[in-house]
Amino acid sequence: MRKPEDIDAALRPKSLTEFIGQQAARENLRVFIEAAKARGDALDHVLFFGPPGLGKTTLAQIVAKEMGVGFRSTSGPVIAKSGDLAALLTNLEEGDVLFIDEIHRLNPVVEEILYPAMEDRALDIMIGEGPSARSVRIDLPAFTLVGATTRQGLLTTPLRDRFGIPVRLNFYTHDELELVVTRAAKLLDLEIAADGAREVAKRSRGTPRIAGRLLRRVRDFANVAGETIVTAKVADAALNRLEVDSLGLDAMDRRYLMMIADIYRGGPVGVEALAAGLSEPRDTIEDVVEPYLLQLGLIARTARGRQLNGPGWKHLGITPPTGAQD
Ligand code: ADP
Repeated sequence: MRKPEDIDAALRPKSLTEFIGQQAARENLRVFIEAAKARGDALDHVLFFGPPGLGKTTLAQIVAKEMGVGFRSTSGPVIAKSGDLAALLTNLEEGDVLFIDEIHRLNPVVEEILYPAMEDRALDIMIGEGPSARSVRIDLPAFTLVGATTRQGLLTTPLRDRFGIPVRLNFYTHDELELVVTRAAKLLDLEIAADGAREVAKRSRGTPRIAGRLLRRVRDFANVAGETIVTAKVADAALNRLEVDSLGLDAMDRRYLMMIADIYRGGPVGVEALAAGLSEPRDTIEDVVEPYLLQLGLIARTARGRQLNGPGWKHLGITPPTGAQD
């Protein structure tokens, strides 16, 4: 029996050619990879940033594959002590990619070890304590650090400055997501009509991970309803049951919008108040919920807080109270 993680792995594109969308990022990476390979160098350090589910981990794996090197993966919060990072770094082979997800969550002491590792490919280790303590330098193989984070601004400046290749990932267009859905359906052996793929794409919040997840749920509904082919009608019925609305917003998005509309008369309201009211961590609000609502223009971020825009009121089907800001 296949676990959801296995399906996720099977759906991951394995090369830059197979990777859909993010055209500028892809073309630039191709050039940097080709140039590094031609020189026989390790690729410069790469930072991928953007909302969750847009393909940061996938691209990190692709970078290693295209460079023809090994791939090691970890994440910021997992590396508790500097020794853990030292162990990872000294185990790397020439040219390897070390992927650190959520790199903004590295402990500051661990982060300091990274600076010389990234810049000089060396580790400075303290031996002993007190007056007899001394620092020993260990050379590291030429490696590529690939970091991923939801927002570039979350990184400290010294860390951010050490990435030679910063790459911003953007939400996908409906056309791109339609390709993602069609490709995933083929891999899942699911028959889907063009309008069915379009419907899932339109309601995937600009995010391939969500497209994959919705497609699997739509498949469940189709199977149980005895539908052999996923048409727009089948997809729409399933997505409505999943409470994904016409813009692809989910229950959390709507609770967020309703809170600004209802409790704060359209805002402006600070993110802390919203996070408390929704019982969600502020990070989740800022990294997961808001980016897509901002992209759709439903809300605006002002100096005084979040505000519901005209299209936000319209989507909720509420007339703004008189005196509400737009
Ligand atoms: P992130 O690391 O940014 O959170 P991932 O790289 O884990 O995102 O991608 C999430 C899922 O979305 C993966 O299972 C992958 O199959 C799919 N995916 C991401 N980008 C693409 C793409 N460009 N084309 C097809 N599938 C994609």
